[in-house]
Amino acid sequence: MQGDHDHLSGQVFHAQRRGFMLVLSSPSGAGKTTLSRRLLIKHPDLTRSVSVTTRKPRPGEKHGEDYYFINQEDFTRKINTHEFYEWAKVFNHYYGTPKSPVKTALDKGRDVVFDIDWQGAQALADSAPEDVVRVFILPPSLELLHDRLIKRAQDTDKVIERRMNGARAEIKHWREYDYVLINDDFSQTLEELDLILKAERLKRSRHPWLKGFVGTLMEE
Ligand code: 5GP
Repeated sequence: MQGDHDHLSGQVFHAQRRGFMLVLSSPSGAGKTTLSRRLLIKHPDLTRSVSVTTRKPRPGEKHGEDYYFINQEDFTRKINTHEFYEWAKVFNHYYGTPKSPVKTALDKGRDVVFDIDWQGAQALADSAPEDVVRVFILPPSLELLHDRLIKRAQDTDKVIERRMNGARAEIKHWREYDYVLINDDFSQTLEELDLILKAERLKRSRHPWLKGFVGTLMEE
């Protein structure tokens, strides 16, 4: 558990906070990956969940950093041995969240950031509703999303077309999220994400130690 020191009434309280899962979803190209990277730089105490995928690495992507790139056979084996918190098929490829790093981080009171689609967000929220905060990132327009996918120059025209159709399907799930941000101005969206993180960290339910603290206040 995380040991925060709160100086209250001259006393030092060792606060034990429950870690939570910060889930970011968006259509591809809406800026979610860059946002989560920047949030992690700003908050080195956050843990990023690195997913496993059967898709091929894009230029510049590193195994173990961006994803664990594995083949279909190994992915199926991991499903059968229950190594995933959740897994889903997205754009003809399989993606899954490994269970054990997430569990280890949460047990230590660390917050974990996920860059996963609506299916993954739903699965995590079903398994631990109290411990999941869902944020959806919208592009300001679909034209801009299209432009960003072209500028990224990492996908073929056919893949881009598939991703645009996928974007519409993903956006349909916006109501399932606690927060919806429109990524028009990158620094503003990052600031909003930062505010969400800070406010969520202060939520009463994440601070079981408060009960004892209030007990001591009442005895005074
Ligand atoms: P990309 O191929 O662009 O990296 O990711 C495609 C989609 O798969 C994105 O929406 C991304 O958030 C989602 N994704 C990545 N990892 C996971 C995962 O572990 N589980 C689920 N459900 N979706 C994932």
